Amino acid sequence: MEIKSPALSTLNRMEWHIQHRVLHGIYRTRQDVPEEVYRLATLYEGLLPHGQGWNLPATWIKNHSPRGSPLRVLLGDAEYLIVYPRGDLQTKKHELLHAEYAMNPDYRAQVRTDWLSLTSSQQQRVHQVLLSLGYPNDPELLLDEYQAYAATERPSFFGIHKGHKGQRNKTKRK
Ligand SMILES: [Zn+2]
Repeated sequence: MEIKSPALSTLNRMEWHIQHRVLHGIYRTRQDVPEEVYRLATLYEGLLPHGQGWNLPATWIKNHSPRGSPLRVLLGDAEYLIVYPRGDLQTKKHELLHAEYAMNPDYRAQVRTDWLSLTSSQQQRVHQVLLSLGYPNDPELLLDEYQAYAATERPSFFGIHKGHKGQRNKTKRK
């Protein structure tokens, strides 16, 4: 969508659209990502020195950003925000899975079943990997990251031999 209001101009260097109640923010270079997105994302999941994708529930944004802030105006009645680099389908898919996890109770239940099927040492291993990427030690947030990485990364990502499909081998925070 095109942003006309000058108050929204800080968001203007990115491309925005809402699809299925998810606001997508697409950037070309990290410098185009507005400070407000970094601020909120850091509050949500800790400092992200090497992040390239971000995900935020709309409720979180509304609780941590003043009414009338550019991002809130843009959000409208969307329920979730995802931000990713243009052309990076892997990161887009990862962030979309966070939206799915937040918005679809059936999917959430499925993820929980999957998680409970892991042995406790497998669960510990998953937590170790995610903590080493810098995520905060919050079991609910880690479960959300687990499902997004498990569905998009190579089977060896967590080193627990679960046989998930995926093709990426670099390890970047998302
Ligand atoms: Zn993520």
